Amino acid sequence: MAEAASFDALVHLLAYLPKADIKHIREAYKFADEAHLGQMRTSGLPYITHPIAVAGICAEWRLDAQAIMAALLHDTIEDCGVTKVELIERFGAPTAELVDGLTKLDKLQFSTKEESQAESFRKMLLAMARDVRVILIKLADRLHNMRTMDAMAPIKQRRIARETLDIYAPIAHRLGLNQIYRELQELSFKFKHPWRHAAVEKAVAKARGNRRDLVSRIELEVRKAFGDFQVPVEIHGREKTLYSIYKKMKDKHLSFAQVSDIFGFRIIVGDMPTCYLSLGVLHQLYKPQPGRFKDYIAIPKPNGYQSLHTTLVSPLGTPVEFQIRTENMHMVAEKGVAAHWMYKTGPNAQSAQQLGANWLQSLIDIQDETRDASEFLEHVKIDLFPDAVYVFTPKSKIMALPKGATPVDFAYAIHSDVGDHTVAAQVNGEPVPLRTELHSGDVIEVITAPGARPNPAWLSFVRTGRARSKIRHFLKNLEQDESRGLGQKMLAQALRAEGLALPSLDDDDADAAQLWHQLARWAGTAHVDELLVEVGLGRKIASIVAKKLARMLAEQGQRPDAVMLSMGRFATDDAAPAQGQVTIDGSEGASVRLAPCCRPIPGDEIKGYLGRGEGLVVHTAECSVGRRLFQRDSEHWIAVSWADELNRPFEAAVSVMLNNGKGVLAQVASAVSAAEADITHISMNETPEGSTTAEMSLVLSVRDRLHLADVLRTLNRSPAVQRAKRVKP
Ligand code: MN
Repeated sequence: MAEAASFDALVHLLAYLPKADIKHIREAYKFADEAHLGQMRTSGLPYITHPIAVAGICAEWRLDAQAIMAALLHDTIEDCGVTKVELIERFGAPTAELVDGLTKLDKLQFSTKEESQAESFRKMLLAMARDVRVILIKLADRLHNMRTMDAMAPIKQRRIARETLDIYAPIAHRLGLNQIYRELQELSFKFKHPWRHAAVEKAVAKARGNRRDLVSRIELEVRKAFGDFQVPVEIHGREKTLYSIYKKMKDKHLSFAQVSDIFGFRIIVGDMPTCYLSLGVLHQLYKPQPGRFKDYIAIPKPNGYQSLHTTLVSPLGTPVEFQIRTENMHMVAEKGVAAHWMYKTGPNAQSAQQLGANWLQSLIDIQDETRDASEFLEHVKIDLFPDAVYVFTPKSKIMALPKGATPVDFAYAIHSDVGDHTVAAQVNGEPVPLRTELHSGDVIEVITAPGARPNPAWLSFVRTGRARSKIRHFLKNLEQDESRGLGQKMLAQALRAEGLALPSLDDDDADAAQLWHQLARWAGTAHVDELLVEVGLGRKIASIVAKKLARMLAEQGQRPDAVMLSMGRFATDDAAPAQGQVTIDGSEGASVRLAPCCRPIPGDEIKGYLGRGEGLVVHTAECSVGRRLFQRDSEHWIAVSWADELNRPFEAAVSVMLNNGKGVLAQVASAVSAAEADITHISMNETPEGSTTAEMSLVLSVRDRLHLADVLRTLNRSPAVQRAKRVKP
């Protein structure tokens, strides 16, 4: 394949492009030349020789001007600190996008040895590339790097050779780029196993000498046969690649002498019917080997390859393979997807994307005739227009997720335990919100905490069914458990007001179990657990259930306890000690909500509103929203208080008046963190143009009232802050 050693040589290869394009390409060359000035290749040559050679390979495929420019510029972002914006301004967005795509691919490094990982990695690469041209330039880049690796350290040579064999050669094959596929394999073989390569090379050279007479005799006889039939054909002798000989020896445990079909012939004809006619000519000349005939014209290979293959018994008894195909088939066989640029170039050429899509469509059309059409279509879709993103775990394992997936989907894909305890995530080392959309190639790290639990809000952005069902499942269980716990607390409180203790809920206590069973039936519920959940959710009024229970206990002869009675009555007073109240310790979860209007925190005076079916809502005693609710419907209010031991932080709303200016946000953030609190939400209120003050609304995560006072003091001391205060409705 051609390789341009200088820009002038490259221009020579670009004769298929219009003059105006060449002008732009020259500008790209000048830009790249300047950017790489002073940089050297390992080989000692100036760096610019590499992008020129890569562009030369792309020119061989007749890629469009955008692609040639991108090939010249492909290492400028990565190696020279040029920005994408700069490239957009100078060379337009399409070229800049191509360079950007190539830069992203460069950052991927394949590191594991697993076969399945290699397959995923290939898919990731194709998914990231989006544009077929990016893949083609990348393959040209890899090919030139492989051609110029001689001066590199052997360990590096082996690593790159292995990566090429695992990743890039199969991609070239998949895209039908057989010529470059063979060369990549050949070079990889040489650098990965230099000694074995040399041995096979020597053996082939020897065999070539031995069989020279045979090969020329066959060629002569074949030429004569086609002449007799008056079929015009081109006949080419061909040799198997060293790598394919080596692979056959290795896979089938053969010696070199046992690999018989090292030499073969290729017959190129004018049209498709002539292919079959030629087959007839050959089969009359030499005896075909049974079972070795393959019709890849009727049933092409998935990458579009079409040809007739047959193996004939030569005059000396050795088998020789013949491939028969048309000119067009040959083009596709050698250049694959790139053949499309070669068919049609010039100023009226369709866009590259369109051509890429056409190529796929043509493959689909060919394949439609065959049995595996749907399967093939599935392959093409996965590989080039993927609905999936491929991301890495911190240990470089690749995970496939649907497009639009978030770190939460990722966490649940790893394990439901990881998902359930997720608190934060990092993408490529940067902290991101959990709703962030993931992209192919991202490295995701999920941070978990033992006490954490799924957030119902996640349901609004997760993409995978797995994450969705796991979150729902968890929340449903949680709600039941928590509501049951709250219902039990509330029933106990209501019973205390009757001077009675809650009967045992232990199944072993037969008397109590009988009592609960009766009570549940009276309430129209299936089981005592269901009854307690109903009470906890406010669907059944605790005091009514307690009164019924008291009557049932009285029928059994139990009398109210005088001490408990006085405590229970006392407890209905707002100022009562905690014993008679429902205590909030922060572990209630979904069954207790802290009202978003006043955001109560420990230390605040609080009261609880038991709405129907929504559990307990806690307001501060002074909350105006709560007060209005109380006036309307005072029966649903119950006494609540904070527990002494609280095991989680609480959120408080704070408003901050600021001196408008640069860096004030950072000052606020550092004041908050100096006071050991966290900002969980931030928003700036609209301020008129040119105003010197601004208002910021914060939601802060604090331990209690004292802690909040401390945070406000620290904020008010900050020079950026005019006034910080808690928001009260
Ligand atoms: Mn490069």
